Amino acid sequence: MRTNCRMSSKSSCGPHVELTSNPAVRVTRCSCGTVHLHLKASGVSLQMDETQLRHVANGLVGATRLLDAAEAEVVVTKTGDGTMH
Ligand SMILES: [Zn+2]
Repeated sequence: MRTNCRMSSKSSCGPHVELTSNPAVRVTRCSCGTVHLHLKASGVSLQMDETQLRHVANGLVGATRLLDAAEAEVVVTKTGDGTMH
């Protein structure tokens, strides 16, 4: 795997430190500070700084919370139907 880092043309890129890895995604941080987010399903690798990564993470958390809420709402609707009287 090539670990060239386009965002660090001036400074040299050292080894990447793995921040997290699961069956869907792998996140590493280059010694230059650039974060690499690799989506295993699509084989796409994204490069961003730490601030951008936080925004991405917050966005994903928000989306999954809505998904969880939607699922919970369906459950409530199914189990709570006609029992409020
Ligand atoms: Zn780098």
